[in-house]
Amino acid sequence: MKKHIPVTNPATEEVFASIVDGDASDVDAAVGAATAAGEQWAARTPAERAGYLRAIADAFEARSEEISELVTRQNGTPISITRAMQSQVPVTYRYFASLAEKLETESHVETASGDAVVRREPVGVVGAITPWNGPQPLIAWKLGPALAAGCTAVIKPAPETSLDAFVFAEILTAAGIPDGVVNIVTGGRETGAALVAHPGVHKVAFTGSTVAGKAIAVECAKQLKHVTLELGGKSAGILLDDVDLDAFRPLVMSACAPNTGQTCRALTRVLAPASRYEEIVQMLSETMSAIPQGDPTDPGNFFGPLVNAAQRDRVESYIALGRSEGAELVLGGGRPAGLDRGYYVEPTIFRGVTNDMRIAREEIFGPVLVVMPYESVDEAVAIANDSDYGLGGGVFSPDLDRATDVARRIVSGSVGVNTSTLPIETPFGGVKQSGIGRELGPQSVDAYLEYKTIFRAPRV
Ligand code: NAD
Repeated sequence: MKKHIPVTNPATEEVFASIVDGDASDVDAAVGAATAAGEQWAARTPAERAGYLRAIADAFEARSEEISELVTRQNGTPISITRAMQSQVPVTYRYFASLAEKLETESHVETASGDAVVRREPVGVVGAITPWNGPQPLIAWKLGPALAAGCTAVIKPAPETSLDAFVFAEILTAAGIPDGVVNIVTGGRETGAALVAHPGVHKVAFTGSTVAGKAIAVECAKQLKHVTLELGGKSAGILLDDVDLDAFRPLVMSACAPNTGQTCRALTRVLAPASRYEEIVQMLSETMSAIPQGDPTDPGNFFGPLVNAAQRDRVESYIALGRSEGAELVLGGGRPAGLDRGYYVEPTIFRGVTNDMRIAREEIFGPVLVVMPYESVDEAVAIANDSDYGLGGGVFSPDLDRATDVARRIVSGSVGVNTSTLPIETPFGGVKQSGIGRELGPQSVDAYLEYKTIFRAPRV
């Protein structure tokens, strides 16, 4: 009898399903299937693979609502947000289909001694490990380029959000993906670690915490495997002194606390010009407190519960820490009234924060913002860059050129100017403790390809 992991609805605290906690034999079977399917899949033309990716997009669309409801039930993301996230999944597979069609798998190079055929070949079997906060989009970010490049894959979803992966398996079948090309193994950390350590896996694509990412990097280094790591963040949102708060207000949730703050690139450090500090703190408090919080299946709610009890404990311990560090609570800090069941935490804002406080330096992963004043743009940039992380960032001003110049100075993998919408056509990833490598954008396919040179002379 296999071990099982319970699946809990974070809005009701009810266990409503369980998943198998996959062991080494499950991982071995999945990697074996991916290996067996590898040669035939790699031999298909990029145009054929693009056709399969489009078929996944079509089949996904047909099950999108079912997946959205299942994801919300597992991770508590408000359904309107879950739906918006799922709507991007078919778009992402179609984008990678278009990249597959443009893929040049061979080029010829004239050399001093003859000529050479330079091939771009798939790296082999990919181990894709994903977190619970955006399960299907984050699978698509990995599987899209992997399949486009001609790799086969084993997906290990987060234990909190594995049920939608079963629906995704049916989607793959409906799309006609050949057996063994994509495999799914459920389980927790040990299952993920077994996948990373399996000698049949040639590349690991990981999204999750910095702690897990480092453990994965060590194992990949031991075996010299390719690895892409999308990790945590503590991104700064800089409001320039000419910011139009009426224009910024509708962006507050999506930029600073999307998914009840459980988003890696959320702008959880808000940097405000000292001359407008009070005004900005007040606007943030009014806006955050007016965002409806409650039952995540109600499309009118935009803050839900946190994903599990451990995550709520973690967020509450950071709120207590902020108080003990001397920061001043201006909003929230407790559990919302009337929501006695479910892992809810109120949207919370601290003022009087300095960048050396732990609440300004560590990823909290909840609806908790710190607001810090700055005197000059140079100081704002210095505070933004004084971080162990470098995943996201934001600059807000009606002067696009001025804001873009500030964005150029932020040490980070991506920075949004007056927007929080991440374009899938451009690379995304982190620097420093936020990770290595990039997903999305045309470059992302390169991470799933290896060069091979056949150099030759006319005769012997
Ligand atoms: P986590 O690292 O605990 O788990 C992520 C996944 O990795 C899960 O599937 C888990 O089972 C697996 N895992 C954990 N330890 C492992 C190990 N040693 N070896 C192999 N697999 C392992 O993270 P989480 O709590 O699920 O997600 C929250 C974290 O993810 C946050 O830190 C957040 O910033 C980060 N995140 C980053 C991005 C990004 O794109 N940079 C996106 C979403 C979330």
